[in-house]
Amino acid sequence: AMHQEKDCLFCRIARGEVPSRKVYEDDDLVAFHDINPAAPVHFLVIPRAHLVNLYDADESQAPLLGRLFGVIGRLAREQGCNDGFRVVVNNGRVGRQEVYHLHIHIMGGPEPLRSGR
Ligand code: 5GP
Ligand code: ZN
Repeated sequence: AMHQEKDCLFCRIARGEVPSRKVYEDDDLVAFHDINPAAPVHFLVIPRAHLVNLYDADESQAPLLGRLFGVIGRLAREQGCNDGFRVVVNNGRVGRQEVYHLHIHIMGGPEPLRSGR
């Protein structure tokens, strides 16, 4: 389902209807700080297109998924992650996904992260 979903929280953030602290945006992608950070630096990168999670992402979205992963290193550095960071994608019930619009968590900070999450 590539269409924009009227009531999806992250679609609304992407459209600017719900405020967020944006890190980056372009025609395809939006990055913004997580409202409940689990690390000193914690932001999310999402496609503007409403993909639910990686079950929704097949090879027809390879260029988009490539862009999604392709901006992370630069954005992480710009946000102060100069000595590493963690990337997490939660999918579905077992993955404890809370927001059903595909998003990549980028977490880092000055010191090594705790295990888990
Ligand atoms: P997940 O779906 O991967 O479990 O996590 C969703 C993430 O979105 C959580 O880390 C949560 O703090 C974040 N989040 C939920 N609602 C909002 C919001 O309205 N704004 C922002 N910036 N982040 C949110
Ligand atoms: Zn959405």
